[in-house]
Amino acid sequence: MPDYDVVVIGAGNGGLTSALTLAKAGRKVLLLERHNVPGGCATSFVRGRFEFEVALHQLSGMGSPENPGPLRAILGEMGVLDKLEFVEMENLYRVVVPGQFDITLKCERNLITRELQDRFPKEKEGIVKFFDLVYDCSMQMIQGLFFHDPEISKEKYPLYFKYALKNTQDILDGFFDDPLLKAVLSIYWSYLGVPPSSLPFGEFAIMLFAYIEFKPYHLKGGSQALSNALLDEYLRGGGEVRFNCAAKRIIVADSRVKGVITEDGDTISTDYVVSNASTLLTYIELIGREHIPAGQMEQFKSSTIGPAAFTVYAGLDCEPGEVGIQETTNFISTTTDMDGAFGKWKTLEQQGVSLLTCYDVSDPDFSPPGTCQAAIVALQYAEPWYSVPPQQYYDTKYRYADGLLNLAERVFPGFRGHIEEVEASTPLTHLRYLGHPGGAIYGFDQYAKDSTLFLSPRSAIKGLYFAGAWVGSGGFQPTLTSGRTSGRAILKSMRKQQ
Ligand SMILES: Cc1cc2nc3c(=O)[nH]c(=O)nc-3n(C[C@H](O)[C@H](O)[C@H](O)COP(=O)(O)OP(=O)(O)OC[C@H]3O[C@@H](n4cnc5c(N)ncnc54)[C@H](O)[C@@H]3O)c2cc1C
Repeated sequence: MPDYDVVVIGAGNGGLTSALTLAKAGRKVLLLERHNVPGGCATSFVRGRFEFEVALHQLSGMGSPENPGPLRAILGEMGVLDKLEFVEMENLYRVVVPGQFDITLKCERNLITRELQDRFPKEKEGIVKFFDLVYDCSMQMIQGLFFHDPEISKEKYPLYFKYALKNTQDILDGFFDDPLLKAVLSIYWSYLGVPPSSLPFGEFAIMLFAYIEFKPYHLKGGSQALSNALLDEYLRGGGEVRFNCAAKRIIVADSRVKGVITEDGDTISTDYVVSNASTLLTYIELIGREHIPAGQMEQFKSSTIGPAAFTVYAGLDCEPGEVGIQETTNFISTTTDMDGAFGKWKTLEQQGVSLLTCYDVSDPDFSPPGTCQAAIVALQYAEPWYSVPPQQYYDTKYRYADGLLNLAERVFPGFRGHIEEVEASTPLTHLRYLGHPGGAIYGFDQYAKDSTLFLSPRSAIKGLYFAGAWVGSGGFQPTLTSGRTSGRAILKSMRKQQ
């Protein structure tokens, strides 16, 4: 008998829901996490009197009890829904081009359409047609793909087959002339990490559809509350966890998983492993090149490591309104050239598109009374940081943070004067805490070929499964879902064996 039915490596979103799915089904599961807290990206840290949210800006897929989204169902199934408090955000987002343009979109399709038509009267007709396509294409993806229609075909789902893999920019160009309107409508591209010119329309459409239909949510206590709740439920179900305990090796023989060796030198026998670590680290470092299935290295060669993030976490000694922050989600864009903005992610230059989130607008209790916190995020690749000499790292980091704070000051005058605590994280911070190549927060770049449409949680090595951003889309909803998918796939395989 193996020591455990399953060993799960990594307690990020995907690892937690995978471990929990398996423990709930009565399997003997061991969860190994290299850090000392659960969550991976889904975590927080404390500076002074502020507990800063690391990652979660807008939770997608929740929906209300009356109009439940897929994530609500999953969290219900995991047994944590009643233990958490979710707050619906009032608006979708605000886009500010400092000194030039400012718009806030509500969370209702009709209200968004009307607002955009008022602001861009020449594009009236295109706006209606664009949302028709976003909605119709999303519905076809949901019915055909997500509900696994066995009769999926071009004839039955023509919009999905025609548009899902087209790039989003071409679709926008087909409907609109005004670059500002295109920028406002596609600003969520930065949540997917790929500019509209390379972003598969299917991925973009379903994201916009889901945020409008199921609304963006904030979570009381932040994402750490979710990670803690998932872990508690897992432990209650009999699961075991070891923190500060990285997996060092996955033992493979005859193309089958046989066990895991921890960094403490413990050898644990098991027939199944779920890895929430990157697929690169899992194959190359934990398994070893001699066991990598044929074709896997070729697949790696054609994928590129996705972006990490630079974030300034600011604790202010005032309420949000005092510095003019009225919205939770504020995209600040200094350009309408999204390819140009994306290009800056590979440099240490000031970004074209940044996001300022103030959780306290949706949840006034989020920070201590009379204070608020804002996270200013600019996505960024790790490459430019690799060439910063160690002795210049802090100067470079604080210079970059200073640029983002100046941007916040332009939009919210007085912001800087109210800062009580400030911290910054670079792509190297994410690399250090997650152990992922490039500190990537969404796994591989989500170009069409690496899209969720083509990735599987299963490996060619028997008993090896994956969960998390490296085998699908990044973000909370996709990674929480992917853990459940891999957990279920293992349960199915176990039933077959029996
Ligand atoms: C600044 C920022 C902003 C974001 N904003 C949003 C947002 O608004 N909405 C949204 O949906 N998503 C957002 N995301 C993305 C989202 O947080 C991530 O895509 C998601 O949490 C990744 O989950 P995961 O399951 O892939 O695991 P990860 O979070 O990547 O965690 C992997 C875990 O595996 C562990 N691990 C790695 N190697 C080993 C090993 N050898 N042994 C043991 N453990 C190991 C790591 O320590 C880590 O805990 C954001 C992320 C960041 C950083």
